Amino acid sequence: MKWHFLGGANQVTGSKHLLETEQARILFDCGLFQGRRKESEEINRNLGFRPAGVDAMVLSHAHIDHCGNIPTLAKNGYRNAIHTTTATADLLPIMLRDSAHIQEADAAYLNQKTNRRDQPPVIPLYTLADAEAAIRLIQAHAYGESVILPGGVRLVHVDAGHILGAALARLEIPQPEGASLRVALVFDLGRYNLPLLNDPVQITDVDILISESTYGDRLHEDARNEGEDLRMAVNRALARGGKVMIPTFALGRAQEIVYLLAQLRERKEIPEVPVYLDSPMAQAISRVFEKSKTYLDEEYHDLRRRMGSIMTAEWLHFTESVEDSKAITSSRQPSIVLAASGMCEHGRILHHLKHGIENPANIVLLVGYQAQHTLGRRLQNHEPVVRIFGDEFEVRAEVETLRSFSAHADRTELLQYIQAARPKKVYLVHGEQDQRESFAKLLREKLGLAVELPANGDVADFSRDLSPAP
Ligand SMILES: [Zn+2]
Repeated sequence: MKWHFLGGANQVTGSKHLLETEQARILFDCGLFQGRRKESEEINRNLGFRPAGVDAMVLSHAHIDHCGNIPTLAKNGYRNAIHTTTATADLLPIMLRDSAHIQEADAAYLNQKTNRRDQPPVIPLYTLADAEAAIRLIQAHAYGESVILPGGVRLVHVDAGHILGAALARLEIPQPEGASLRVALVFDLGRYNLPLLNDPVQITDVDILISESTYGDRLHEDARNEGEDLRMAVNRALARGGKVMIPTFALGRAQEIVYLLAQLRERKEIPEVPVYLDSPMAQAISRVFEKSKTYLDEEYHDLRRRMGSIMTAEWLHFTESVEDSKAITSSRQPSIVLAASGMCEHGRILHHLKHGIENPANIVLLVGYQAQHTLGRRLQNHEPVVRIFGDEFEVRAEVETLRSFSAHADRTELLQYIQAARPKKVYLVHGEQDQRESFAKLLREKLGLAVELPANGDVADFSRDLSPAP
């Protein structure tokens, strides 16, 4: 058998793995590579295998770096099942349709540029029709359900505690000699004590473990501090009559903040000002959370019994149109606004920032990762002047980064998880090179484990890993 590390091995984007046995070829994740335009084009258009020759696909979760290139599979002839959890199955259509819309809009924008008139038209990476074709292939399963894949490979989805519906995979791959090879796929691992989500479920007794290493050299603050950090920042701004502007990703972080605000409101620890969820996509995802209650933790259910609906509560305003959104920006009333995008690169948050960034009473709360060269990172770095829609604005609002927020396990949490899984060998993927090397060193020194750092395009033979040296 062969394991092909096709994408997201030595970087944190474009996750893609292919298992090849004598009987079957199974794809694990098909993420979108996000980076510089030309490189992304090249990588996303060339899957690295023939989609029609793949017998089944397994999806870990609905983050775009794990699922975002699935429509390209369908576009190129893939017609077999996509196995995932029921919650991911509900999130996936929202994510893929949005992504298809972006792909089509990007191509249309490039095609209408005058300097391109004499060149062949840009074809979108994929279209809405490709996304719909992929959506029709989804087969949903519960956590813990045993699924037999082509070639007799047994799959169990295990709660990753990362985002709604996210699953680690436990695989049993039949071997020619009769025994099975036990493999754990740990991408992405969540955290303990995250709001809304159950803790990651431990996989044990595996032969091979393939793990993400996004924060392989970092330690997070305790996730239990999230509510307290949010409470202090929100109260500070509201006490001076300001607005709270929270740039947020539509999937996960938006719902987490809404939940924490619900807790704070119930305890009367923040004033009852209007809260706006100003992102149609986040609203659609919030409705999936309401529908997927069985995936959420006991604390959420307790609060829901006391307060009624949380994700679609009556104090939470869903703004539908751009006009509704503009009405909030022009209002001087103190309020809390959640809007995409999470790194302030596009979306409705830009309008809120444009109108609110020069008011010292306001606060901008950064609750997610801010990549280099984004407006979010500039704000995080406290640059005194920023550019929004081509105009310069003085940053007079307070800007605070809430560092307790993260959906990824840190160095210690990853180490504990891998230690308890008791693997014979570990492959580290989904991390920058520094993170991977630092974490590999820790695993070798602390746990005495054999660790490999594969690059994209590398192939491993796990059965050879386990046979004693000659
Ligand atoms: Zn993820």
